[in-house]
Amino acid sequence: MNQQRIAPALLDAVMFAAERHRNQRRKDAEASPYINHPIALAHLLATTGGVDDVVVLQAAILHDTIEDTDTTEAELRARFGEAVTDIVIEVTDDKALPKQRRKELQVEHAPHKSTGAALVKLADKTCNLRDIAATPPADWSLTRRQDYFDWAKRVVDGLPQVNDAMLKAFAEAYAARPES
Ligand code: NDP
Ligand code: ZN
Repeated sequence: MNQQRIAPALLDAVMFAAERHRNQRRKDAEASPYINHPIALAHLLATTGGVDDVVVLQAAILHDTIEDTDTTEAELRARFGEAVTDIVIEVTDDKALPKQRRKELQVEHAPHKSTGAALVKLADKTCNLRDIAATPPADWSLTRRQDYFDWAKRVVDGLPQVNDAMLKAFAEAYAARPES
């Protein structure tokens, strides 16, 4: 994409995701605005990860719109195109399945992810570990927080190794695995 078109494309994704997630909150005690999370993924990829592919950054911004809002795949394809939507679909769980099965499938599917999807997954897991370490859901026991860390590591360990700086960021986030 022409360098000058990157900002409008990225901001269009931010506008869309902000509108779709507008009534949602994260699970931390303060119930932070949901949109902070997709923005954190794109920020981590662009800064630490050195990612300047606007398709990946848009996919990061949009990564939870199908899973967590009434947004459809067709809507994303029409507005953001095939490449962005393909990545979002790759990182979207099948909500018809029970939660535990979805978690197992994330581990099983990890080795088959495209580069773009692997980058978004890495950012998602890193940001979620950071959130659980710093601002965890209020009702999560120590065991539940530890289980989440260990599951996230199993997913990330299976992903294709696409970006050393992002892997390092994940490892640093994992090092804060709660012990008490
Ligand atoms: P959930 O899948 O219910 O919640 C984790 C997800 O919530 C994250 O992946 C993230 O998803 C989102 N999220 C929103 N706010 C935060 C935040 N502040 N910090 C971190 N993540 C946030 O949790 P589990 O993975 O633990 O649950 C999986 C299954 O295990 C469920 O069936 C649950 O009922 C069960 N369970 C497990 C227990 C245990 O001790 N391990 C105890 C009780 C139940 P996203 O990036 O998509 O927003
Ligand atoms: Zn997410």
